[in-house]
Amino acid sequence: MLLLEVLIEHATFSLDRPFSYAYHGPKKVEAGYRVLVDFNHRQSVAYVLNVTETDKAVAVLEEEKGFSIHEILDVIDEEKLLNPELMQLAEEISNAYFSPRIGVLQTMLPPSMKPKLSSLKAPKIAYDCYVELVDASEQDLTDHQIEWMRLLVREKRILKKDFKSPSILKILLSKERVKLAYDEKQRLVLPTFLEQAPKKLTEDQQNAVDAIWNSKEAVYLLEGVTGSGKTEVYLSLSEKVLAAGKTVLMLVPEIALTPIMVEYFIRRFHGRVAILHSELTPAEKYDEYRRIARGECQVVVGARSAIFAPLDNIGLLVLDEEHVESYKQDTSPTYHARDIAIMRGKHFGAKVVLGSATPSLESRARAMKGVYHYLALPHRINEQEMPETTIVDLLNPRNLDRESVMFSLLLRERIKATLTKGEQVVLLVNRRGYAPYISCRSCGHVFKCPNCAIALTYHREDGMLKCHHCDHVEMMPDKCPECGSKYLSKQGFGTEKIEEEAHRLFPGVRTLRLDSDTTKVRNRISQTLDAFRNHEADMLIGTQMIAKGHDFPNVTLVGIVLADIGLTLPSYRSAERTFQLITQAVGRAGRGDKKGIAVIQTYMPTHYAVTLGAKQDYEAFFTKEMGMRKIQQYPPYTYLVSLTLSGHDEEAVVTTIYSLAEQLSKQLEGKATILGPTAPYIAVIAGIHRRVILVKYKKASDISEAITTAIDVLSGKSQIKLMVNVDPYDF
Ligand code: ADP
Ligand code: ZN
Ligand code: ZN
Repeated sequence: MLLLEVLIEHATFSLDRPFSYAYHGPKKVEAGYRVLVDFNHRQSVAYVLNVTETDKAVAVLEEEKGFSIHEILDVIDEEKLLNPELMQLAEEISNAYFSPRIGVLQTMLPPSMKPKLSSLKAPKIAYDCYVELVDASEQDLTDHQIEWMRLLVREKRILKKDFKSPSILKILLSKERVKLAYDEKQRLVLPTFLEQAPKKLTEDQQNAVDAIWNSKEAVYLLEGVTGSGKTEVYLSLSEKVLAAGKTVLMLVPEIALTPIMVEYFIRRFHGRVAILHSELTPAEKYDEYRRIARGECQVVVGARSAIFAPLDNIGLLVLDEEHVESYKQDTSPTYHARDIAIMRGKHFGAKVVLGSATPSLESRARAMKGVYHYLALPHRINEQEMPETTIVDLLNPRNLDRESVMFSLLLRERIKATLTKGEQVVLLVNRRGYAPYISCRSCGHVFKCPNCAIALTYHREDGMLKCHHCDHVEMMPDKCPECGSKYLSKQGFGTEKIEEEAHRLFPGVRTLRLDSDTTKVRNRISQTLDAFRNHEADMLIGTQMIAKGHDFPNVTLVGIVLADIGLTLPSYRSAERTFQLITQAVGRAGRGDKKGIAVIQTYMPTHYAVTLGAKQDYEAFFTKEMGMRKIQQYPPYTYLVSLTLSGHDEEAVVTTIYSLAEQLSKQLEGKATILGPTAPYIAVIAGIHRRVILVKYKKASDISEAITTAIDVLSGKSQIKLMVNVDPYDF
């Protein structure tokens, strides 16, 4: 019989150890397969870590080991899910991010391959069924049957659905002259683009390519202003890497938002490219994953989770727009794609290129210290001018338009002028929904989420109130539950309200909206962006989604409705986020040959994130913000890890976190600073109370033991859950 050591699908620290099962069946099973087991009287999926053959009886083994060993229910897979490099990576990630191993595997694998029960229902392989010849002898066959046999001899195989006579097929199968064969069907059809010859590189581009190609360094920061031609650098390097027989992993923040990158790669490398796209169906993801694993493509373009693509022999890993926060996962394992790229790069001796016009402070600081090799592309290819920007102070009543709350006089006038010229407008509204705050005009009652105690947002499109922190939704009431008044006021604004205002102020304007509400529908992002690019609308209204690297040549005006929304949130990164958002948004204006303008509305017109963002002055912002981080001892001057405890019983959570803080302070004395415990920004989500401790440290090796101990101690408590976030952005 076989003795299996498996990880159970439940991603908690207390179960993060191997469990033993027996298997007497005929199927093949090895490390890296999934099996179905009974765990605590529940059917669960488990991932096999290790298989040993033994002659001993189960009873003997149970006696020896001191626990009972059950037979598995079934073997799920027919081949290994992960190759040795990825298995080792899973181990590394589990250690670096203090994450249960099974949770890491669930993160790394596509939906239908995840080791968990729900994934077994996810669509997996679509098959084409073929009829194939086994034995061409015509003995004992009727003429009709022989006719089919001869056809098969010529064709070798025929699709079963094209085999017009089921009765003949049945007989041929029973006589074992033919058999059925199943072939995986490739469902994803990539768009075809004409092949494109490489552009002649500019001197700057050539220097960057040579510097990376000829150097022995591992990680490069490619800082190139928008329009400096970073993509051509990635393409040129990819070509060299492929010519050397190696593979390329190209990451972008979100495929649907940057279709142009996919287009460039397909044009240059054709059938060698696989795309891992968030809008793919689970079956399509599975197909692409398998195609990559089989070595059928050598270039993978994808978003964050594509960093786990099963490419072998990687020669180059690129993160475009490396500063974008969507590269960081905020659930366990709380990895950043940049760090995983560096881990995989090290394994393969590959080059890692981080590209951005406005690098994250961490990356730029590392480049300044020589940890990353710094390269710059300081010029725009077409010497295009940067857009002209104006900051509008919303505190000054003279700037306001009496007919509108959100559109200042200047913004309204500029929009009108732009629309008159037949050019397009992008409006950035960093909040979705209609109104973030509903209250009763008579008694002042505010509608709050019953779980999180924060104000509910009114969504007009579906007439509901929604919580933006948990998934609570309720119907918009027609009267106040406290006093019965029918006068409810919708305060503040979100994308829906701005769209409504735009129609009132600019009659006849054609608008499109893009936020996470509209993108619940598959392919909606790309459809909306295509429609806007084809000028089917005059105005695109959306959240930060629209600020990313799109190229809309006819957009000459960008309006930021309220630039400082993010600045009021308690995060050490709020200035950096605001700066990034403004520079990215402003950069959308005037990408074609027409000059762009940008209008930035704010209540904080003198805040450095706003003024420097408007000027697109990265250097000045970097210097200023590094100074702030140094004073407050935040990254990149330190590293952070947050430990969040959560549970239904608030008192238990509080008591536990205080003793945890005390224990950590003792263990980490002189090595790290412990901040808290405090209540996080949102202290209750869905009835679960939360408290957080922040550990600031300089060296990971100083703290890992203490954190591991904390995990061990707490894994015994079933009522309290611990979440460890390495390099958290919010806490
Ligand atoms: P970035 O990503 O740095 O903002 P892109 O890679 O989008 O810049 O390049 C900006 C524009 O310049 C694109 O339209 C691209 O096709 C063009 N371009 C890039 N390199 C060259 C080159 N060597 N010669 C001509 N055009 C180029
Ligand atoms: Zn009321
Ligand atoms: Zn809520």
